[in-house]
Parts: sequence; structure tokens; C-alpha cells
Amino acid sequence: MLLKTLREEVLEANLELVRRGLVLYTFGNVSGIDRGEGLVAIKPSGVPYEELTPAHVVVSDLEGNVVDGNLRPSSDLPTHLALYKSFSTIGGVAHTHSEFATAWAQAETPIPCFGTTHADYFHGPVPVTERLSSHEIAGDYELETGEAICRKFARLDPETIPAVLVAGHAPFCWGKNAHEAAHTAVILEYVARMAYHTLTINADCRPLARELHDKHFLRKHGRNATYGQVKS
Ligand SMILES: [Zn+2]
Repeated sequence: MLLKTLREEVLEANLELVRRGLVLYTFGNVSGIDRGEGLVAIKPSGVPYEELTPAHVVVSDLEGNVVDGNLRPSSDLPTHLALYKSFSTIGGVAHTHSEFATAWAQAETPIPCFGTTHADYFHGPVPVTERLSSHEIAGDYELETGEAICRKFARLDPETIPAVLVAGHAPFCWGKNAHEAAHTAVILEYVARMAYHTLTINADCRPLARELHDKHFLRKHGRNATYGQVKS
């Protein structure tokens, strides 16, 4: 079996979405990439999570040609591939229709940073893409979705904002591997739910002060991070 370890990691990341209550039925998909081989492993289309094994995980090249696996890949594969091509440092992508993050996507409203939980993971609001045109929807829809995400990040850093809300659809998240992408999806849902509750309590709530936002993000990420244990 080609890329056995990557397939196992991708399967485990997909199951993490189930354990955390982020997916219903066969919704959602996580992929991972082997940059050296130029190959992507992704959940197959329409297979119940409880039946998934590493052998079910589909391996494709960066053009979407299946190179190993008997099943069809998730229909969102072209979106994942567009992200891998544009965001050269990411190693995993996760897509869910988790309730609160999807509600923000449907409202076409960026998730503001109201607190340090958000600031620990996202160095700014979680952005929303532009709507796709009718031409893009009728064309190569999943690829166009990926292109819309990449356009949104033309002036944003995907390493410091590892998630996006696709207008009228749902979130896509990423990380340095499949596990981290799924982890980001779980945190995004938590942050989206808390932002909703924050505005319910106080509709005029102001975003977190820039200094506190920077403090929390930068102590966990970047060259001078101080969070966690020193790695030997
Ligand atoms: Zn979707």
C-alpha cells in the first residue's frame, strides 16, 4: 500500500472530526500531503466514517489523478489541491460543515477576535471568501472554491490565519499535517461558537485590543514563542 503512514495519519485525522462532533454522516474530509512524493492522501467520497480503513484512503497526484486506491476521492479534492499548491508550507487540510463556523460562513461574516482563545490560534479575524460567480459555480466548482480561498489570502498569511470561511458554504482549515488541520477545525468551531455567544450577550462587543491579540498569538507562534516546553 502506497504511503501507508500518511494514509493512517489522514484516517486518524478524519476520525478526530467524528470524535469531536464536527461532522454528520459522511460530511467533511481531511487530507495530507507528502511534499517529497508530490502525492496527497484524502478521505474517499461517501464512505461512512465507521467503515474507513487506511486502504480506503485515496492517494492522488497534485493534478487530481488517483495513483493508488480503489475508491473515488472526496469531491472536494480539487479545493485541497489548490490550497497545497498556493500555500507551500502546509501539510494537511480539513473541511467540515461544523455548526457555528458554517453559520458564520453562511452569514458571510468574518469571525472577529473577541478573546485570547481566538488570538492563540488566529492572528486576526477568520476571513470569508467572496461569493463565487455563476460562471465559476457552473464550471470547475471545487477548483474555483480553492481559487477563491487563495484570492482571499493574497494579502493574508496562511501560516498565521490557518482557516477560512467559504461564503455560503463552510470552513476550510489547514496545518503542518493532517492532525494539525483537524485540530484547527476543532478550535475554529469552538471560537466560532464563543464569538456567537459573545455577540448574543453584547451585540456591541469590541474586538480584543490589538496588543493583547498580538501578545497571545506571538507567545505561542513564531521565533520568540514561549508557550509549552522547550524542545530538546
Ligand atoms: Zn463542504
